[in-house]
Amino acid sequence: MKISIIGLGSVGSAVATAIKNTGLVHEMVLFDRDGVRSAAAAADLGHASAFSFDVKITAANSYREIRGSEIVVIAAGANQKPGQTRTDLLSANSNVIRDIIPRVMANTDPKTVKIIIVTNPLDVMVMLARDLSGLPSARVIGTGTMLDSARLRTILARQLSVSPMSINAYVLGEHGDSSVVNWESACVGAIPLNDFCKSMKLSLPQTTRRTIEHRVHNAAYEIIMGRGATWDGIAAAVNDLLRCIINDEKRILTVSTCAPKTNVAMSLPTIVGRDGAISVLLPRMSQSEKTSLQKCVRIIKKNYNNI
Ligand code: NAD
Repeated sequence: MKISIIGLGSVGSAVATAIKNTGLVHEMVLFDRDGVRSAAAAADLGHASAFSFDVKITAANSYREIRGSEIVVIAAGANQKPGQTRTDLLSANSNVIRDIIPRVMANTDPKTVKIIIVTNPLDVMVMLARDLSGLPSARVIGTGTMLDSARLRTILARQLSVSPMSINAYVLGEHGDSSVVNWESACVGAIPLNDFCKSMKLSLPQTTRRTIEHRVHNAAYEIIMGRGATWDGIAAAVNDLLRCIINDEKRILTVSTCAPKTNVAMSLPTIVGRDGAISVLLPRMSQSEKTSLQKCVRIIKKNYNNI
């Protein structure tokens, strides 16, 4: 399997490292508009082949070199600076996506290629990439709220003293400030969250839930304040998404794809496999979660209309 990564900044480099270390692919092409940076990343990571999986890693000087890629990950574009929201990146990063997608499409097979979007503001970039590529929505997939859901699962796991892998809980909607924590469908193992709390004599009152929501919503801002950018969590999310596609695992992930009805991209639990985002599911939601999700749709639509 050959894949390409476009954009080799903090995120793209961490994604390349995560993928390299799982041995999921045999060939990885790295492209950045800063050719010196992608060449250095390819050399540095290439040397690691002596210690683990022998992946062929090359830096591309032109898009021609991504030919044969089955998956293209787009992690290029401006990142948030302290105090900036993801929406502040709308104008700069829509130009980045406009630059990249036609070149990707000119050098990949439109019948099979899958594009993974990481660039923020995520959902609008998914919509733009889908429009520019002409690909079916199932094959233009944003990492969406995979990272937000991972943050929720980790925080909840610590609260409940179980493994994050046993927490089945979703953050839905926008990968941004309006994202929605879906308490209504949250389970520990297969046990509904409230039943689990009852049987373990744990209490998770509204105030604690609001605090958890706040921590999920603010995680990226806090990390950016502390280390300038976020990369480890998102790299693990991209790697997990790639694994799911490459191995045709058909796991349920909160990726962002364009919905046929609303024509808006946002995150919902989705079955993901070799064909991309196969089926989008609607979890059980409270009335207030439904209302918040509708607000997400309006925000994403408005942002899309502004580009
Ligand atoms: P960065 O500034 O470290 O790197 C961006 C890279 O993109 C640079 O190397 C730059 O040269 C390259 N680039 C810019 N325009 C390009 C173009 N037209 N063609 C090719 N390369 C181009 O930024 P970063 O921290 O790596 O973040 C990258 C993107 O990922 C940002 O939009 C950021 O907000 C986003 N991000 C998303 C998530 C998520 O959960 N979806 C998480 C973290 C970061």
